[in-house]
Amino acid sequence: MIQGIVFDLDNTLTDFMKMKEAAIQAAIDGMIDAGFRLPREQLRERVDAIYREQGLEFQRVFDELLQREFGEVDPKILASGIVAYRRARESALVLYPHAQMTLLELTKRGIKLGVVSDAPRLQVWMRLCALGLQHVFDAVVTFDDTGERKPAPAPFREVLRRLGIDPAEALMIGDWAERDVVGAKSLGMRTAFARYGDTFDTKVSGADHDVDDLLELLRIVDEVNGAPPAHGGIRRD
Ligand SMILES: [Mg+2]
Repeated sequence: MIQGIVFDLDNTLTDFMKMKEAAIQAAIDGMIDAGFRLPREQLRERVDAIYREQGLEFQRVFDELLQREFGEVDPKILASGIVAYRRARESALVLYPHAQMTLLELTKRGIKLGVVSDAPRLQVWMRLCALGLQHVFDAVVTFDDTGERKPAPAPFREVLRRLGIDPAEALMIGDWAERDVVGAKSLGMRTAFARYGDTFDTKVSGADHDVDDLLELLRIVDEVNGAPPAHGGIRRD
């Protein structure tokens, strides 16, 4: 029986890279508009270099950029970049197709829902709230909740503890085979690889299921658990 499904967040439920890309481009245009005299491509290279050093969740990337470039932070350019970044992020942060429907149908089937993300706690909750998903999950475990990242067992153990289910009763879905799949498998969870979110050109995921669309989770659950209840399924009337 599958009693619960644990989702990775970025590139599994949300198209994180698309959001990040749109936000960075908007910020660069915003800073140029406010007086940053450097071609877009060069600005982009410098921003990317800072993200490579500090990680994609680094929150002071534009402060750092201005500091390195001018030895001080021009508040007008900084503000222009931040405002443009936030606007673009809001509009570009979207769920993958069928995410809402899948989550709703899983809930109807009595499946408990969890999130395990390596992102910082506030960033995870900001994304969930922006997507209107803040009430959907029974358990949300972020990096700050265990201090360990996937594939370490701690975050998986924590989400299972909060969901009140055993590893064998849970399915983990994620886009990063070496972290999401390997980590969940080591505990004995069933695994699904979110191939639609793969940014690494993964050839062999090692997961029990490779999925191209979130809706496939319903088929997996119904196959393992038996036919859905009469009121379940997707009504077309
Ligand atoms: Mg991910």
